[in-house]
Amino acid sequence: MRKNILITGAAGFLGSHLCDLYVKKDFHVIAMDNLITGELKNINHLLKYDNFEFIHHDVTNYIDISCRLDYILHFASPASPIDYLKIPIQTLKVGSLGTHNCLGLAKSKNARILIASTSEVYGDPQIHPQEESYWGHVNPIGPRGVYDEAKRFQEAITMAYHKFHGLETRIARIFNTYGPRMRLNDGRVLPAFIGQVLRGDDLTIFGDGSQTRSFCYIDDLIAGIDLLLNSDYSDPINLGNPSEISIRDFAKEIIKMSGSKQKIIYKELPMDDPKKRQPDITKAKDILSWEPRIDRSEGLKITYDYFNSLSEEELKKTEHNDFNKYIIR
Ligand code: UDP
Repeated sequence: MRKNILITGAAGFLGSHLCDLYVKKDFHVIAMDNLITGELKNINHLLKYDNFEFIHHDVTNYIDISCRLDYILHFASPASPIDYLKIPIQTLKVGSLGTHNCLGLAKSKNARILIASTSEVYGDPQIHPQEESYWGHVNPIGPRGVYDEAKRFQEAITMAYHKFHGLETRIARIFNTYGPRMRLNDGRVLPAFIGQVLRGDDLTIFGDGSQTRSFCYIDDLIAGIDLLLNSDYSDPINLGNPSEISIRDFAKEIIKMSGSKQKIIYKELPMDDPKKRQPDITKAKDILSWEPRIDRSEGLKITYDYFNSLSEEELKKTEHNDFNKYIIR
């Protein structure tokens, strides 16, 4: 008998790749999204399969599923800093109320649930690299607080359901991930830089570009999620690529890869922008036998080709990516 899996945030970047995987594995995939930040074009190609269905629904409202459920993957949430600023209340609600609804559903169906947490639970970290035992350094009322605290609450309520109700839960702390189907205008650094290169604009570095990130290619991340779902490990686990790079060097890499001649311009650093970020993936290696295989040069090329294949019209849609512009003081 086919396994049934509910994927929330299914029309988003990560969610749509998870839909691809589980349709291919011959699960019955129930894809759910309210399409605030997700886009139907990411899953349109799956609608023809009889083991795929889409439900347009906001998981902050009661989730009504009549069939048996074996698994729930809760990936619904805005995930880019500019999105948190544009839709702060929805960001808080989907991480808190949305997670509560998903956990309640998992309990009633006796399903195993995996929730998408984030490196943002570590805030602007004071230890480096970040290991799971670190409690983080988050400003609850800063511009990122709506996401960071919602995700921290999400972890807390998930652990409570696990401990109090004995629910089978999994928590993935996902670090910066990139690849095809990211939104060109979501404000995040990789689509921002590639969009700028393709439009012939200057690349905007926020601050002096010495801040670091560690970028994981989507296929590696998806493989890690699947391994975690199938493991029996219920504590949070970091999933990301430990290869760390400064944003300045990252901009230079993208300029070089594309063979363009754009300049770099410097803009104000967004408030509470983490200065360093690199996952310690010792646990993922030991427990899941997982580590990323696709290096940045390979992943960037695939992603660049994806953005390059978008229509002129889509390229033009890119909005202002200035984070500070959206802060309401
Ligand atoms: N950033 C940048 N220029 C841009 C967009 C982002 O220099 O056009 C910086 C941003 O300030 C941060 C890093 O790139 O230091 C990664 O930002 P992103 O929004 O991708 O996600 P974050 O990792 O901060 O959640």
